[in-house]
Amino acid sequence: MPKLAQTLAALLPALFFAGMAEAEPVPAQITATAQALGQKALGDRWGYRFLEGLTSEIGQRLAGTEAEERAAQWAMAQLKQAGFENVHLESFPMTVWERGTESAAIVKPAPQRLVLTALGGSVATPPKGIEAEAVIFPTYAAMLDAPMGALKGKIAVVTQAMVRTPDGSGYGAANPIRRAGPSEAARRGAVAYLMRSLGTDSHRLAHTGALNYSEGVARIPAAALAAPDAEQLDRLAGKQPITIKLILTPTEHPGQSFTVSGDVTGRERPDEIVLIGAHLDSWDLATGAIDDGAGDAIVAGAARLIGMLPQHPKRTVRVALFGAEEMDYSGAAYAKAHGAEAANIVLAAESDFGARAVYAVQLPPGAAKSDFGAAAGRILTPLHALLSREPALRGGSDIEELAAMGVPVMSPRQNGLDYFDIHHTADDTFDKVDAAELSQNIAVWAGLAYLAAESDIDFRALPKAP
Ligand code: ZN
Ligand code: ZN
Repeated sequence: MPKLAQTLAALLPALFFAGMAEAEPVPAQITATAQALGQKALGDRWGYRFLEGLTSEIGQRLAGTEAEERAAQWAMAQLKQAGFENVHLESFPMTVWERGTESAAIVKPAPQRLVLTALGGSVATPPKGIEAEAVIFPTYAAMLDAPMGALKGKIAVVTQAMVRTPDGSGYGAANPIRRAGPSEAARRGAVAYLMRSLGTDSHRLAHTGALNYSEGVARIPAAALAAPDAEQLDRLAGKQPITIKLILTPTEHPGQSFTVSGDVTGRERPDEIVLIGAHLDSWDLATGAIDDGAGDAIVAGAARLIGMLPQHPKRTVRVALFGAEEMDYSGAAYAKAHGAEAANIVLAAESDFGARAVYAVQLPPGAAKSDFGAAAGRILTPLHALLSREPALRGGSDIEELAAMGVPVMSPRQNGLDYFDIHHTADDTFDKVDAAELSQNIAVWAGLAYLAAESDIDFRALPKAP
C-alpha cells in the first residue's frame, strides 16, 4: 500500500471515533468504583442525620424569610464540615409572601368551620373577611364553562379531586386548578376562590402551594380546603344556597433568597460540571422533610461520598441547594447566575419527590443505549432500580431553565404513590422518612453522579433515537 494510503487507513478509525460521543466503553474500574459507592451509601446515615438536623435545628424554611436564610447558613456549614470546596451562597431578590391568619366557615345553611390554607401568593381579604354565596363546581372544567360575569360577587369553589398515581402525574394534571384557578374565577366575576387541596389523603389537613395570578385580572384571595371539607360542600351543594365567610391576612414584602453551592472539584477537568441539586426552602406549615429536605440530604449525601474517594472524579460534582423553589424563583435565578457556563454543565439533575426508593432512572436522550447506559444499568441493578428506556427531557423546576438552554438532564424516578398524602401539609415532618429508602436514593445518586463525572461522555453529542 502506498505510504499516504497507509497513513489514511491508520487515521480513519480515529477520525471516525472522534465524531462519536464516546470513543471507548466505560472502563470496568469506573463501574466497579460506582458500584462500591452505592454499597457504601446503603450503610451510611450522614444524609439521614443531615435531614434530621435541617428539620429540627431549623424547621420550616419559607422562601425569603429569616428562617430560610438560617437554613442556608446551616447548610453551608454542613457542606464545609463534610469537606466540600468552594462552598458559598448566591443571593437573589424576591417578593416574600407570609401567610398570616386564615379561617373560614359555612355561615348558611348549617354553620360549621372549614379547614383550609391560603395558596402561596394569595392576596388578603379585607380585615373583617369576605362573606358571600358560594358556587360549587365538581370539576375545574365546569368552572371554566361558566360564562364571564356568571360568578359576580360569589365565592367560586372547585371540589375536583386529584388522581393518585405512582409517578405523580396526577399532580401535574390537576396543577392548573391551583395555578390558574384564582384568575379564571376572577375573570368570571368571583370575589374569592376555594379549591379542594391538591392531595391524595382524606385527612383534615389542607395542602398549600403557589398560585400564579394572570396579568390584567383582579387578584382575589384564594385558599385550598382539606379534602373532607371539600366533600362536605359537595354534599350541601344544590340543596340550599351556601354562604361562606373567609378571612386571610397574608402579607408581601421585598426580600432575598439564596442558593447554597459546594463542589467536589474535578481532578482533570474541573470546569466541566455534573450539577446535582434540590431545593432548600419549604412551606411554612411543617418542616419540609419530604419536600424537599430529603432531596437536599440525597444530593449532598451522594456528593459527600464521592468527595471521600481516594481521588476525585475527573469532572466537578457540584451540589446546589436552591432557594425559593416553592415561590417559583429558583430555576430562573440559577439560570440567570449560571447561564453563561451552561455549556460546561455536562449533566444536571434534581431530587424533589420525597424519600421513597428510586425504581428507575431516566438518562438524556440516546444515553440508555450507549456504553454509559450499560454501565449505569450495572450500577442500578444491585440497588433494585431499572435503567428507564424513556429519556429525561425537562428536569424539575430548579433546572428546567438550564435544560431549555441545552443542558442534558437525568431524572431518577421514585415511588410516589403516597407522596401527595402529606406534600405541602402540616404533616410533612421528619418521622415520615424511612432511613433505608433515603440511603437507597443516595446510593443511586452517588453511583450515577460519579459515573458521569469520571467518564468522558458528552451527552449532547449522542445520536438521538428518531
Ligand atoms: Zn413543594
Ligand atoms: Zn419541592
